[in-house]
Amino acid sequence: MAETILEVRDLVKHYPVTRGVVFKKTVGHVKAVDGVSLELRQGETLGVVGESGCGKSTLARVIMNLEKPSSGAVSYKGQNVFALRPAEQRRMRRQIQLVMQDPYTSLNPRMTVGDLIGEPFEIHPEVAPKGDRRRRVQELLEVVGLNPEHINRYPHQFSGGQRQRIGIARALALRPDIIVCDEPVSALDVSIQAQVMNLLDQLQREFGLSYIFIAHDLSVVRHLSDRVAVMYLGKIVETGSDDEIYERPTHPYTQALLSAVPVPDPTSRENKAIIRLTGDVPSPADPPSGCRFRTRCWKAQEICAREVPALIERKDSDHPSACHFAEKREIVATHEA
Ligand code: ADP
Ligand code: MG
Repeated sequence: MAETILEVRDLVKHYPVTRGVVFKKTVGHVKAVDGVSLELRQGETLGVVGESGCGKSTLARVIMNLEKPSSGAVSYKGQNVFALRPAEQRRMRRQIQLVMQDPYTSLNPRMTVGDLIGEPFEIHPEVAPKGDRRRRVQELLEVVGLNPEHINRYPHQFSGGQRQRIGIARALALRPDIIVCDEPVSALDVSIQAQVMNLLDQLQREFGLSYIFIAHDLSVVRHLSDRVAVMYLGKIVETGSDDEIYERPTHPYTQALLSAVPVPDPTSRENKAIIRLTGDVPSPADPPSGCRFRTRCWKAQEICAREVPALIERKDSDHPSACHFAEKREIVATHEA
């Protein structure tokens, strides 16, 4: 088994909710991330999936050390990233890069593509000496499938898919170990999504990258993920290998998410249940007691309101699931999703 390069332990990020204009008073907390543990191994893709608002981007920002956690730890190659000295912190920042959802808002419109992709070299000049930068940027353009002759163009002169390629080139510039992809294809047309996914797949193999791949839809990460963690309201509710999650899900939430994924083979519908999620996701400022999914769960019993289900291996499964009533169930996908 490959070595673990990133480890997240009991990570918590709560945002205070304040009231009052002059005298701000904390009246509660948004529990954006509420006790997440995960591991990323060298060269693999960990898919992180959950509905909008469940804390995926917050988790990404804390892992990137862009925000401090309320508690918990993140270690990169065994070193706690929140306890590094400035020089070590700089080195670590090179190794973990972020690709964001909307490439347009994340790219400064007044900078040329060459300057945008070369900007990381200004912060980390040791990676590419000044005289070498233009060539390096052109090489990066080529690596992500863009024309190196377009180095002097501006972001608005590119399509959405091309802008995401620029974002990826920028993330690659410092030769990172890990790329956190926060819904990198969600804003793109479906036809373009596959091209960008294929590029990420190819880059991973070429450069031995490890990915944390965030999506709100299980179907998006299926092709790329080796393992998947399913999030609901700040917590991981089920995690396992690709096969375990897609073929033998045991958490009702995962089953419901998969039930909404379109399948290519309509004959596989027979004798399987279709699950429809009803109701909205509760507020992370006031999550339900016990199991957070219980207000939308068809299996909920009295114990679910009382006890938070631990993320552990259940008797009916081969991977951790945070459900008191975890059980295998064959899922049928719908076609209208
Ligand atoms: P996702 O990426 O899964 O859609 P986010 O991590 O963006 O979820 O948000 C999780 C929750 O945390 C949401 O309820 C969101 O409103 C809240 N949140 C995110 N960032 C902040 C912030 N800076 N201040 C207060 N609340 C925030
Ligand atoms: Mg997000």
